[in-house]
Amino acid sequence: MTRQHTHAAGRRTGIPSRRGGRSAAPVPQAAVPRRGPGGRRALTTLFWVGLVAAVLPWWLDTPAGSLDSTGAVLTAAGRIAGLVAGYLLLVQVLMMSRLGLLGRLAGERISRWHRDVGATLVVTVLAHLSLIVVGYAAGRRSVLGQAGELLREYEDMVAAVAAAGILVLLGLTGIRAVRTALPYELWHHLHLASYLVLLLGFSHQFSNGAQLFPAGPVRAGWITAYGLVAAALLWGRVVAPLRFNLRHRLRVADVVAESPDTVSVYLTGDRLDRIDLLGGQFFRWRFLTRGCWWQSHPFSVSAAANGRWLRLTVKVVGRHTADLRDLDQGTRVWAEGPSGTFTAAHRTRERALLIAGGSGITPLRAMLEELPPGAALIYRARTPDDVLLNRELDWLAQERGTDVWYVIGSRDDQGPRQVMSAEGLRRLVPDVARRDVYLCGPPGLMEQSVRALRRAGVPRRQIHLATFEL
Ligand SMILES: Cc1cc2nc3c(=O)[nH]c(=O)nc-3n(C[C@H](O)[C@H](O)[C@H](O)COP(=O)(O)OP(=O)(O)OC[C@H]3O[C@@H](n4cnc5c(N)ncnc54)[C@H](O)[C@@H]3O)c2cc1C
Repeated sequence: MTRQHTHAAGRRTGIPSRRGGRSAAPVPQAAVPRRGPGGRRALTTLFWVGLVAAVLPWWLDTPAGSLDSTGAVLTAAGRIAGLVAGYLLLVQVLMMSRLGLLGRLAGERISRWHRDVGATLVVTVLAHLSLIVVGYAAGRRSVLGQAGELLREYEDMVAAVAAAGILVLLGLTGIRAVRTALPYELWHHLHLASYLVLLLGFSHQFSNGAQLFPAGPVRAGWITAYGLVAAALLWGRVVAPLRFNLRHRLRVADVVAESPDTVSVYLTGDRLDRIDLLGGQFFRWRFLTRGCWWQSHPFSVSAAANGRWLRLTVKVVGRHTADLRDLDQGTRVWAEGPSGTFTAAHRTRERALLIAGGSGITPLRAMLEELPPGAALIYRARTPDDVLLNRELDWLAQERGTDVWYVIGSRDDQGPRQVMSAEGLRRLVPDVARRDVYLCGPPGLMEQSVRALRRAGVPRRQIHLATFEL
């Protein structure tokens, strides 16, 4: 079943919501600036240059003709894998530093890069371990005997093997089926063990690494790279959040039920007009109250910046989200962000189509306020009760000249399936191929919609995804 709201001119009345006294964000009239893919290209180039620089010392140190036996070849491969692994670990931790500049340059790709580098890192570490053991053992002794000797006789080897073990466990939690089965907080805390990997693996590189052991420019360069990553971590994880929270002193102003299983949390604070926030971005929120203070969860802002309040809209799916229903007014909030490039500023075309599923409406609702007139929203929900913030959406449809369609029905219903097909999308939005498309919702809806959009002729670079998965 579909229902359409077209943009009949309407008198501005303020956002109709279930709370009194609050009015909508001022609607920006100008289109937001566009940002191109140049940053991603620069980072990709830097990555490959760094990788070559990491392996170069081995190349320079290895005389021609010295790889004259199977053992020597395997050992050399192991050493290269070790250098690559050390470099990838640094890149991986850098991507966890939440450095704003990195996020801005990498855009939405950063989470995919993080997953890809993580998987490659695990494989490279395992390759390093096995190649070194087999290479050292070749023609001399058993592999097990060699492994025992390395553990007993080589300095920092036990710590390095422990680091490799933790890394493999982390790799397992990166598998989608495992990740989605774990509570967010457990997954998040396990993920922090990456720092332990960095610490445990650090000394091994210098005490056992053939290229890094001798004092000289290579060793100094490697230590400098570690220093820079540590500085990025300190800045992104400690200094910047501290500055933000001391400056804005956020606290809960109100908690409003949006549906039986969804609440909006309104926050106030100091100098909110100075927060450089775009619709579609998210913060990691820590509510400083009993039972919640030790957890920090990501939630998008569900209204554009207005200088007076911030809002997040939360669907109850587990323990933490259930606790947010009972937040008291005045509860202090520690926020890290804003993060993410799922914003109107990152589009490549003038017009946009937004596709939301369930609670995935939250970032899109905020983004709608910042898109120029002519945007379209398709909101997919199982039942009418699952539609969130619909009064605000209807108001925005009028105020911002936006077409809004509610597509209601279960996954197997023929009606919604047809609407969400390539032909259905083209019929609703004839110029879909010339729009940027923003999608946020359950993975199934996203995958199916991306396929339909591609068939409808939308280029990949015009499709932007937010999955609520890290
Ligand atoms: C960048 C980003 C932005 C987000 N923005 C929002 C937002 O604006 N509003 C919002 O409600 N959520 C949002 N989320 C999801 C939100 O962070 C999680 O729902 C929350 O952390 C779950 O915590 P919990 O302890 O209550 O549940 P958990 O115990 O962590 O999860 C319980 C179960 O629910 C599943 N689950 C987790 N999230 C969802 C979901 N969104 N829908 C259905 N099932 C889920 C988990 O896989 C798990 O099996 C966002 C996530 C990310 C990564």
